[in-house]
Amino acid sequence: MEAQIKLGRIFGVEIGLHYSWLIIALLIAFSLAGHFGAAHPDWGRGVIWSMAIITALLFFAAIVAHELSHALVARRRGLPVRSITLFALGGVAQLEKEPEDAKTEFLVSIVGPIASAAIGFVCLMLAWALGWTMMPEATTPLMAMLIWLGYINIGLAIFNLLPGFPMDGGRVLRALIWWYTGSARRATLAASVTGQVFGFAFIIFGIYRFFGGPGISGLWMAFIGWFLFNAAKAVYAQQEMTERLRGVRVGDLMTLDCTVVDGNDNLQTFVHDYLLHTGRRCFLIAEQGVVTGLITPNEVKGIPRARWPYTTVYDVMRPLEQLRTVTPETPVSEALEIIGRDDINQLPAVANGRLEGMISRDQILRYLLTRAELKM
Ligand SMILES: [Zn+2]
Repeated sequence: MEAQIKLGRIFGVEIGLHYSWLIIALLIAFSLAGHFGAAHPDWGRGVIWSMAIITALLFFAAIVAHELSHALVARRRGLPVRSITLFALGGVAQLEKEPEDAKTEFLVSIVGPIASAAIGFVCLMLAWALGWTMMPEATTPLMAMLIWLGYINIGLAIFNLLPGFPMDGGRVLRALIWWYTGSARRATLAASVTGQVFGFAFIIFGIYRFFGGPGISGLWMAFIGWFLFNAAKAVYAQQEMTERLRGVRVGDLMTLDCTVVDGNDNLQTFVHDYLLHTGRRCFLIAEQGVVTGLITPNEVKGIPRARWPYTTVYDVMRPLEQLRTVTPETPVSEALEIIGRDDINQLPAVANGRLEGMISRDQILRYLLTRAELKM
């Protein structure tokens, strides 16, 4: 999930929003205004709406704190964190790679629900300090906000502890089975299956509620269930793929059949003589036999056609040292992770500063398809 709106950095972790978040933020603000307005119509519209907006913002701050707790523990355990993105169904902390031992997996995943529960308890304690006595009625706006935030964060902690992917509880379960059996694969499969069961249960219960009365909230629940079900299934598919790619290195699949072009050619010549004629999508630029960069249709796309005769391949090529590269020894599953994360089509494999080959999404896909076809 890539963030489309960047908010800045906290502890060096980039915080961003996905567009889908905006819809949910509006929905939450409206439903909070309805919630506060129904309980205290005497407080007036201005107060109700200010409360709704501040509470919604604090709620999202609490979700960021939850994700940050994952991110900080991950970093302490040697797993760099790229970013935190808020989207329609919560937040995700994007780790550079998956935990490599059960203990790390356990600590990184359990800390999130603990953080949410702690925030919830602090809110309820503050409300209590302000005179709240566990009665449902809050007497001041601040108290009402604290009570709502308290319950929602504790609810969030409990929901996240459900023992199935993609909830934190699913990762905790995976870590425990991994630790007990020593098999990461079996642990993943178990957490994926329980995740699918929870997702499916949410869908059924949501549909039942939709026809049984409360309506829209049931539909929403079914939607969340559908999301959870798919996410849990994706983990299973991912696991199968990792299994098929086990032991395969970039050097086994990479090819070096990219055509070499002259960097001094202009784009007009390059497009007509090479790009359109050869059917290839990737070309190398070499200087005295050493590859210095590559050019793909992507680099050409950014240049207006009228400029093609006056722009050389050198001007727009991607220099090799600026590219994300792997080595022939890199496991293919890792290369695929990079390709997916950076949203690119191919990766140069470099050894001792020399380009040894290219590995592309297509090549990996073909390899997987062939194995699937041969049932191996
Ligand atoms: Zn979490």
